[in-house]
Amino acid sequence: MEKILEVRNLSKKYQGENDEILAIDGINFYVEKGEFVSVIGPSGCGKSTLLSLIAGLENKTIGEIYIEGERQENISENVGYMLQRDCLLEWKNILDNTLFGLDVRGELNAETKEYVMNLLRKYEIIDFINKYPSELSGGMRQRVALIRTLAIKPKILLLDEAFSALDYQTRINVTNDIYRILKNESITALMVTHDISEAISMSDRIIVLSKRPGKIKSIYRIDFNIQNRTPLNCREHPDFSKYFNSLWKELSTYEGKDIE
Ligand code: ADP
Ligand code: MG
Repeated sequence: MEKILEVRNLSKKYQGENDEILAIDGINFYVEKGEFVSVIGPSGCGKSTLLSLIAGLENKTIGEIYIEGERQENISENVGYMLQRDCLLEWKNILDNTLFGLDVRGELNAETKEYVMNLLRKYEIIDFINKYPSELSGGMRQRVALIRTLAIKPKILLLDEAFSALDYQTRINVTNDIYRILKNESITALMVTHDISEAISMSDRIIVLSKRPGKIKSIYRIDFNIQNRTPLNCREHPDFSKYFNSLWKELSTYEGKDIE
């Protein structure tokens, strides 16, 4: 199997007002091509820090990050990033929003535009391309944000609590939708979440981080052995509660009571 992302001995210290804060400490893992890997852990354990380092938005203190074997030093052109806020530009219509990333990079041309148009057609946004973000539902906005991210053909997609602002019912549907698109387009993904069920329903593997400073506590392989796997049919599978209980126990063994 081809490793798309490899993280070696990664640590990050922030300079606080009075002292240094060690956010993550000695993180090692990889993500294979086409895999969906989640990172879970308590609030403040360094999950967002980890993704910012991989995207090159923050400087690492120690360690190395490789994408397709190439060492990453600056802001990475190879990663797509999806956040809790969809960051759509309210004054641009949906088409211009989805083309924005390409435009900023100077990569907007007939071929790249056609690629985006094709995604918009395939994932049922095409009838809305002249509308503005405020006219769309939360779920549809996330789909648009995903297409904007996929437009730049990232080698890996990073998701940071991307669904946590949505209400429960919407979240279940949106994760199903997004998962289908990622699988159809053979996208490799690394998702950070504090939602155990969300992680189990979408992931091939789940990395559990300790309290801050975040270290890898364990890595679970999630294998439902169902054809045409979707987050929804995983949630309905008899093994779901088995995974849930193990992860719940694992996350409850932290000292203190600040478990999210
Ligand atoms: P999580 O996403 O798991 O909730 P974060 O990665 O956001 O955690 O933060 C990890 C730790 O690093 C927290 O204690 C946070 O306060 C600290 N931290 C994050 N960003 C900064 C920063 N820019 N400056 C100082 N400390 C930071
Ligand atoms: Mg966070």
